[in-house]
Amino acid sequence: MTRGRAVLSNLTAATMSADADGYGLIQNAAIAIEADKICWVGPLEELPEDWQDVPRTDLNGRLATPSFIDCHTHIVYGGSRAREFEMRLNGATYEEIARSGGGIRSTVAATRAAGEDELLADALPRVDALLAEGVTLLEIKSGYGLDLETELKMLRVARRIGELRPVKVVTTFLGAHALPPEYEGRSDAYISFVCDEVLPAVQAEKLADAVDAFCEGIAFSPEQVSRVFDRAQALGLPVKIHSEQLSNLGGTSMAASHEALSADHLEYLDAAGIQSMKEAGTVAVLLPGAFYFLRETQHPPLQDLRDAGVPIAIATDANPGSSPLTSLLLCMNMACTLFRMTPQEALAGITRNAARALGQAEACGTLEAGKQANIAIWDVREPAELAYRIGFNPLNRLFFLGEDITKTQAN
Ligand SMILES: [Zn+2]
Repeated sequence: MTRGRAVLSNLTAATMSADADGYGLIQNAAIAIEADKICWVGPLEELPEDWQDVPRTDLNGRLATPSFIDCHTHIVYGGSRAREFEMRLNGATYEEIARSGGGIRSTVAATRAAGEDELLADALPRVDALLAEGVTLLEIKSGYGLDLETELKMLRVARRIGELRPVKVVTTFLGAHALPPEYEGRSDAYISFVCDEVLPAVQAEKLADAVDAFCEGIAFSPEQVSRVFDRAQALGLPVKIHSEQLSNLGGTSMAASHEALSADHLEYLDAAGIQSMKEAGTVAVLLPGAFYFLRETQHPPLQDLRDAGVPIAIATDANPGSSPLTSLLLCMNMACTLFRMTPQEALAGITRNAARALGQAEACGTLEAGKQANIAIWDVREPAELAYRIGFNPLNRLFFLGEDITKTQAN
């Protein structure tokens, strides 16, 4: 336990500060913590006088980073799509899979049928896999209910995860994820239902911290999503979007005009979309797990995003259909190998920029005075090793709000 005042010493700190170059590395560093906050970070030899007598925890030269943030997940859902995966690899066509009840509709049916406790029990092992790799801030979306009762149920489960595990959970209402079967051929009517009935009920229970939508040919048009975003903003909720994943519909620019926190996927994003993100301060969230699992070939415009100075985050997109991924370390490796991001960009993508994508940049995402004491300690020599190795978890210790939760988490 590290409540009160504590000093972590004999470590290499990758502060990920936006003001520093690269990783913001400090050798022979110390981190001074009081209660849940970082009070000071710097070379041990410069530790301020009033911290000299505080007990020190010697970290034997290990690497300290901000703890990880997964800013895009659909980790609460019913059922499994493993059989569908197997059918496809055994040569089944999409039509055969759909006829046997596969696809997102199978997840919707299973999520509607599951009780709250069952959804929670199914989600916790997946959440624990993330936490075991140093995650202390996790976004969880609804969007497999597509009716009032199940959307609320999913968000309540997400809130309970934050109460049961040493992790901060931020929730996102994703009612406009897919068209439910009972609204077949009536997508405008479904959008009206989301705006007029579901969103107000979600807000009445304060179950969502943001509102998301899937803007795509197979989902909803920019005009339809814009109606959802207008309603969200009227209720005081920030918005974000799944956009330009499979085609370029201009959803990103529409979302930026609603001051979206993030636009996610972005494989088909064009120059106008990038410019709108830059002007709105919208974070680009790239999702290499979905790119990998769907065997996509269209790469997101990484260099253009870099050139424009758009902050880039990465996330697991943990979901049963297109990204059954619950490892941010593997996500870092995928971002580097598939998208050619640098290891430093990948680490910024699950720390500083992921915090910004969730509207939490003031609170966490870097090792700096005033931020929450959310710190991961790693058995590696240099930060690049986190993105370089595959199937390797070198987490040594994890601090959440100043508390050493290494022993309590993921049990
Ligand atoms: Zn997603």
